[in-house]
Amino acid sequence: MRRAVYPGSFDPVTLGHLDIIRRSAALVDELIVAVLVNRAKTPLFSEEERVKMLMEVTKDVPNVRVEAFTGLSVDFVKKCEAKFIVRGLRAITDFEYELQMAQTNRIMAPGIDTIFLTTNLEYAYLSSTTVKEVAFYHGDISHFVPESVAEKIYEKVQMREKCHEQQN
Ligand code: ADP
Repeated sequence: MRRAVYPGSFDPVTLGHLDIIRRSAALVDELIVAVLVNRAKTPLFSEEERVKMLMEVTKDVPNVRVEAFTGLSVDFVKKCEAKFIVRGLRAITDFEYELQMAQTNRIMAPGIDTIFLTTNLEYAYLSSTTVKEVAFYHGDISHFVPESVAEKIYEKVQMREKCHEQQN
């Protein structure tokens, strides 16, 4: 069984992530999309919400499974009995960090390799952070995320605005 893990924050999943998911799922028997639960960060979406959105947008890809994890990616990869970590590369700015991570992981877990997929040029500029910023200013995010995800982001933006109104 050729199994890979694609770890990330996915806060929220974008069309760039989805492109990497579809392309890497085609390379392996099973792809586990792993939502990192980082206690040090305050994400817009909870771990459950991120997992649910990923499940929804990948439901047509049969060999994809979505899970949440805490701790080191390599430990989770070992637990899943996977041999590969998938990461996406957008620009040279991603490269330095990703190379460092891959090399560190390789020292910690010599049996696990990182596979890098270069972004589809259409999504090279795209990050979860930019999508959230555009949404906070009521911009159109329909070119960046699946429709079901866009709805959830706008719901969050509305909730935040209501909270702010009540506080002021
Ligand atoms: P992390 O916090 O681990 O970087 P992200 O959810 O931001 O989590 O990204 C997860 C992975 O997806 C990373 O390898 C990142 O480089 C990649 N990625 C993010 N956006 C894109 C995109 N638009 N195209 C290709 N890969 C992407």
